[in-house]
Amino acid sequence: MTQSFKAILVERDENKRQSVSVVDMTPADLMDGNVEIAVAATTINYKDGLALTGKAPIVRRFPLVPGIDLAGTVISSSHADWKVGDKVILNGWGIGESHYGAFAERARVDGDWLVALPNGFSMRDAMAVGTAGFTAMRCVMRLEELGMTPERGPVVVTGASGGVGSVAIAILAKLGWHVVAVTGRREEDEFLKGLGAAEVIDRAELASAPKPLEAQRWAAGVDAVGGVTLAHMLASIKHGGAVACCGNASGMDLPTSVAPFILRAVSLLGVDASRVSRAERQRTWARIAADLDPGKLAAITKDIGFADIIEAGREITEGKVRGRLVVAMP
Ligand code: NDP
Repeated sequence: MTQSFKAILVERDENKRQSVSVVDMTPADLMDGNVEIAVAATTINYKDGLALTGKAPIVRRFPLVPGIDLAGTVISSSHADWKVGDKVILNGWGIGESHYGAFAERARVDGDWLVALPNGFSMRDAMAVGTAGFTAMRCVMRLEELGMTPERGPVVVTGASGGVGSVAIAILAKLGWHVVAVTGRREEDEFLKGLGAAEVIDRAELASAPKPLEAQRWAAGVDAVGGVTLAHMLASIKHGGAVACCGNASGMDLPTSVAPFILRAVSLLGVDASRVSRAERQRTWARIAADLDPGKLAAITKDIGFADIIEAGREITEGKVRGRLVVAMP
């Protein structure tokens, strides 16, 4: 008898109305791939929230199993690099967007996309980091590549209480930076200071259109928010500083001027976590192992059940999720 398993499926009707539900699937329903995985854990990222709610066109084919991050065990493989029993993680490469993703007990994927479970991480911890934490580390590495060091001055982090922001704060503080956290949730001030923020400021301070150049406040920045907030940040970066831009939680636009770039030599660094080579992923995970304190990761992380995924997707798009959510598969 073919074994069925639980999955979350996003569908669209003839009027292009999206719906999402928990369904039973069989291995025959999965998409093509040369490695099959028993999914042990996943997580909810902002992008998953957009996919589950349909608030942005993340889902590129219907029906689709969403979920951009998974950890699990190989149960069959015709790929040279992977054998039954291997513990693996996967994010990016279109899973949860164009290829059936993590919100199912089984996944079938291309073995080229997989990374061995990083040394020192349980599957749960790898998902606690997830794409959001991985992206936070990529942002830090981009700043370092440009020679940004704590001696240059403070670093500012937006979307501070969210997944990317909270992990970025913990990593930057451990690396010795004076971290300024920007949040709209002042009730999280103590949480953010516990992660290592030296100062917490209200997101309202960056919410108005900036002058071409504002007072020089920060040497570097990590931005998960975009929009006017990023424009304001760019106008307030010190001469020669840099901002790693990875998110759009407040919008896709960037109403800036060229002034910070041509008068202060500020650099705007793009970060895309989805298309990163395996070697670079391994290097990034090694940095996470070295520079993210496990105690801080535990403080950031909340466990939820498979049945909570759809509701959590709605909450993350409303800016109501603190830190990171981990889902153990049923
Ligand atoms: P979260 O929802 O966990 O965090 C986003 C945070 O942004 C919120 O917690 C909130 O923080 C802040 N925020 C929300 N709405 C607004 C608003 N209107 N104005 C200003 N701030 C706001 O999401 P993630 O951390 O998982 O992801 C953050 C962003 O990074 C998303 O846009 C996501 O798509 C992007 N991302 C990009 C990746 C890439 O490869 N480039 C990979 C992973 C994520 P607070 O309440 O503290 O203000």
